[in-house]
Amino acid sequence: MSFKEILPDVGEQTKAVHAGEAPAPDTHASAPDIVMSTTFTVDADTTFSVEGLAENDPWIYTRWGNPTVRQLEDKLAALEGAEMAVAFASGMGAISGLLFHTLQAGAHAVVSDVAYAALAEMSNDMIPALNVEISKVDTSDLAAVEAAIRPNTRIVYVETPCNPLLRLTDIEAVAAIAHKAGAKLAVDSTFATPIATKPLSLGADFVIHSLTKYLGGHGDALGGALLGRTADLQPLRKKTAIRMGATISPFNAWLIMRGIATLPLRMRAHADNALKVAQWLEQHPKIKRVIYPGLPSHPQHALAQRQMHNFSGMLTFRTADGKAAARVLANKLRIIHYAVSLGHHRSLLFYLHSADLLQTTFRFDTPAQLAAWHSFADDGIFRLSVGLENHDDIIADLEQALTEV
Ligand SMILES: *Cc1c(COP(=O)(O)O)cnc(C)c1O
Repeated sequence: MSFKEILPDVGEQTKAVHAGEAPAPDTHASAPDIVMSTTFTVDADTTFSVEGLAENDPWIYTRWGNPTVRQLEDKLAALEGAEMAVAFASGMGAISGLLFHTLQAGAHAVVSDVAYAALAEMSNDMIPALNVEISKVDTSDLAAVEAAIRPNTRIVYVETPCNPLLRLTDIEAVAAIAHKAGAKLAVDSTFATPIATKPLSLGADFVIHSLTKYLGGHGDALGGALLGRTADLQPLRKKTAIRMGATISPFNAWLIMRGIATLPLRMRAHADNALKVAQWLEQHPKIKRVIYPGLPSHPQHALAQRQMHNFSGMLTFRTADGKAAARVLANKLRIIHYAVSLGHHRSLLFYLHSADLLQTTFRFDTPAQLAAWHSFADDGIFRLSVGLENHDDIIADLEQALTEV
């Protein structure tokens, strides 16, 4: 019996703990086993092609499906309120799978002009080289989204809040625009997590998570996932996850499942800490600007209040001469790690220099897009992923390091 049949209407924290899991019928072990086997003994009628594979067929080969990975997928689907989830080796594995599945030569896609760097870089050259046209649009501007739609638009892809600016997109409004044009809406919800926002309930067709971030939560396992309707994801699993092969290791799936068990509790603590740190930074004389969706000073605070039930743990701030300040902070911080990535229990800080990123990664078509970048990032921002340490220790660490800036 599935979790849904046993416990249909339980709360979010109960889903995080129990969904997808059950004691093993043979050992009665309370915690899930890790099944690392890459192959499974099968009967003689088993075919050698994945073509006819059905979701509930016996396990054959771990790239096609694995019991530990399936437990993770079922837990993710329960938390996100999705019919189905497909796990990948990384967030980029999931994003690549979605784009390869959705876009054929001659198609057009509308993509957030500021989104995860690897996606922005793929959109600059790799995807156009496959004869797929991409319009990069500031998706917080609904008129710009509407104007970018073409008859061959297959997908609108947004990230909210977006990495690294923390700019938001109104999911419900963009879903209406995409659907009117017969396109699908995909939302990268990595920064929000299912605790803050459930994009499928707002009209999105696909949700993307980098499980490496808040869902895993401990900085020790890469993973990614796509969530949505079974009718979309069953063929997608065959075409991309299985054939292209960005398969998650069962060990990583097990670690991430263990992380997800505490996701609702962690997100509450991340948001509490982040608000306190953001408020403290906002009154610090050396800090020019703080951007955090939970602060009334965020340019889209009203949308954040409507669309996010938890403001998550990500904030940005600016200082004078950010590059010089980054050298000081990287050396002087004692608790906060100067490192990329985010969503871990450890606080992580990284400086993003606008001129560098505008050259390598974010290519804008209009002066309005460039102006919008600068209104959020000026000549550079510190991205702080506020961890689960005591908030006064995080603040004290920033305070002692900022005296040297
Ligand atoms: C990190 C990240 C990704 C990519 O995930 P990986 O697991 O590193 O491949 C995608 N989207 C967002 C918003 C991210 O922060």
